[in-house]
Amino acid sequence: AASRLGFRTVIFEPGADCPASHVADRHIQAAYSDEDALRDFGQSVDVITYEFENIPTSALDLLEDLAPVRPGREALRVSQDRMTEKEFLSGLGLTTAPFAAVDDAASLARALDQIGTPSILKTRRFGYDGKGQARLRSPEDAETALADMAGAPSVLEGFVEFSHEVSVIAARGTDGSVACFDPGENVHKDGILSTTTLPARLSTAQRTDAVLLAGRILNALDYVGVMGVELFVTAKGLVVNEIAPRVHNSGHWTQQGCSVDQFEQHIRAVAGWPLGDGGRYADVVMENLIGEDMDRVPDLARDPAVSLHLYGKAEVKPGRKMGHANRVIGPASRG
Ligand code: ATP
Ligand code: MG
Ligand code: MG
Repeated sequence: AASRLGFRTVIFEPGADCPASHVADRHIQAAYSDEDALRDFGQSVDVITYEFENIPTSALDLLEDLAPVRPGREALRVSQDRMTEKEFLSGLGLTTAPFAAVDDAASLARALDQIGTPSILKTRRFGYDGKGQARLRSPEDAETALADMAGAPSVLEGFVEFSHEVSVIAARGTDGSVACFDPGENVHKDGILSTTTLPARLSTAQRTDAVLLAGRILNALDYVGVMGVELFVTAKGLVVNEIAPRVHNSGHWTQQGCSVDQFEQHIRAVAGWPLGDGGRYADVVMENLIGEDMDRVPDLARDPAVSLHLYGKAEVKPGRKMGHANRVIGPASRG
């Protein structure tokens, strides 16, 4: 997206064959611990952004002195750890699942007394696509769930009885202006996002609520860039599941649904440009192509309503996100 706007880009990425390196002006391939490479990177750019929330804070310590890092470190600090994230969100007055920190059998027993079952034990850090999670149907599942965490600091969450899941892709500029895309409705399979459908099933009040609570999160973090906010829709209102300080898989539909998509929106924000307004001109279904879904690419390529986005990953593996297909259903029906 930055290249398309005429920016020169330098990618810092430990891996050899990252998709962004194919379009970047320069790829610095080095470890996050390589201070010389980090310094070279920071000195060669005007602004730094990231698309991965598990960057070590030691790398940020060094980079922050060389160029502005957007979104800032508070967003990373909060979203790197599920416990910190839940405390931050509930501190803002937002509703989350009931939660408690778990480090060992004793703290899990206490957490179960407080929260009960059904519940989910999740590692505090590094989890994605439902990895690092164990469901507890009854307190008897405690031992195996704890073993699944392999000693990693964890958090127990009460199971939220939601009717469906939605997410808001929100952006905030350097001037503090906020723009949100219309919330999309998400369906997960085996803990991995499968589809995002626009429009989501939401009342006008729920849609307003979703957008306002996203704005509250961005403002509290003095955020600059795009953020994904995942929500559960329940009879008692919206419950915040988690936030991601980057463009989000559930925002990929914007590539075919909006004149400024989430990727351009993020670059606009971090570059200090005016934000796109988030207006949606189409009803879209985004489908992730996971593992052997790649076999369907020839058929999808023949479908005139489908726009394909394939990531060029060398190897197909079960559960691996290989690309996504955006299907335009028709002009925006509402929202
Ligand atoms: P992502 O790939 O979105 O980062 P993740 O591994 O961080 O996923 P979560 O988003 O926390 O995991 O959970 C994955 C999915 O599991 C959720 O979208 C939801 O469907 C279900 N889930 C997670 N936590 C709860 C909960 N407390 N109650 C009910 N369902 C939940
Ligand atoms: Mg997550
Ligand atoms: Mg999630």
